[in-house]
Amino acid sequence: MKFNAVLDDIVSYEAGKPIELVVRDFGIESKDVVKLASNENPYGCSPKVQEAVSKIVANMALYPDDSMMNLKAALSKKFDVAENELVIGAGSDQVIEFAIHAKASKGSKILMNSITFAMYEIYAKQVGAEIVRTSSREHDLEEFYELYLEHRPEIIFICTPNNPTGDAIDAEALKSFLDKIDSETLVVVDGAYMEYTAFKDASKSVTPKELVSNYDNVLYLGTFSKAYGLGGMRVGYGIARPDIIKAFYKLRPPFNITTLTLEAATVALDDEAFVQECIAKNFDEMGRYNDFAATHGLEAIESFTNFVTLVFDEDRSASSLAQSLLEQGMIVRDLKGYGLNAIRVTIGTPAQNSRFFELAEVLL
Ligand SMILES: *Cc1c(COP(=O)(O)O)cnc(C)c1O
Repeated sequence: MKFNAVLDDIVSYEAGKPIELVVRDFGIESKDVVKLASNENPYGCSPKVQEAVSKIVANMALYPDDSMMNLKAALSKKFDVAENELVIGAGSDQVIEFAIHAKASKGSKILMNSITFAMYEIYAKQVGAEIVRTSSREHDLEEFYELYLEHRPEIIFICTPNNPTGDAIDAEALKSFLDKIDSETLVVVDGAYMEYTAFKDASKSVTPKELVSNYDNVLYLGTFSKAYGLGGMRVGYGIARPDIIKAFYKLRPPFNITTLTLEAATVALDDEAFVQECIAKNFDEMGRYNDFAATHGLEAIESFTNFVTLVFDEDRSASSLAQSLLEQGMIVRDLKGYGLNAIRVTIGTPAQNSRFFELAEVLL
């Protein structure tokens, strides 16, 4: 059968290998499999979320509250933005989809970093848009600006901190960049890991409030999948001026967020102490990865997130290390597909990290 020609050019997104497949393919018991591949919070979510969700599991017959009243009120309070400046997606992924479908079409240009979150490209190609990429591994805003002048893209994606490299942009530099971009170009600032950055280095942290009140063309993205420990619930959000949000609402499927998810996210926002504790542990543990990298001659890119990217020199293959680890039940992300001889490892619990060092040590 023939399909829409735009699909010919799309390679479907490859998620980190799920625990279930490692159990099946390598005969390892699921309790012995460690997944450090998708940047989930290894401590899970707040116990208050589990309690709240278990109380409402009996109410699954009715459609969810499509106004998302409680979650919107909680986000609006947390970020000091108006409710009409908010859209909730089934993961911030869905908000990326709204942004691209709202703004781009066949032949539009979309500017992004050389190495960045894979979904920008996939959604862009769905509408037949052209991708323009910078050349440097980390975000170089000067190069972004040059390419902006040359190509006049419809959308610019800035992922800070960036996945899969972990580096973050200086907040002042980002604002100076945004000052130079015309108001017809949508700039998406993807802050999927911003909670980690805000903890580690305030000079690299931006808030949706400062972006939205100063720029009428910026969309900020946040998610509950990482620091909030709700990857399994699929919920994220976009914050922008009301006219942008209004356009996205024309693309949003009804009831895109489930009742359980709405409850989980609302309660999660209320337990900030839990999230901050997890983030503190994250950076304590990250120190062990930096030491490990130094001992074994690997480059650990300085990370403002909950993962660390370990870059290998030419004579050692990161892919074969990833494969050997996988066969022993340790799932990490091979970055070969991004053109890097590197692996990305999510910072786990102390025990999970010790297991990683123990297995990786004998392979290096
Ligand atoms: C994980 C991630 C997202 C979105 O995750 P959702 O689970 O769809 O909310 C978006 N951007 C980046 C850079 C990510 O790493």
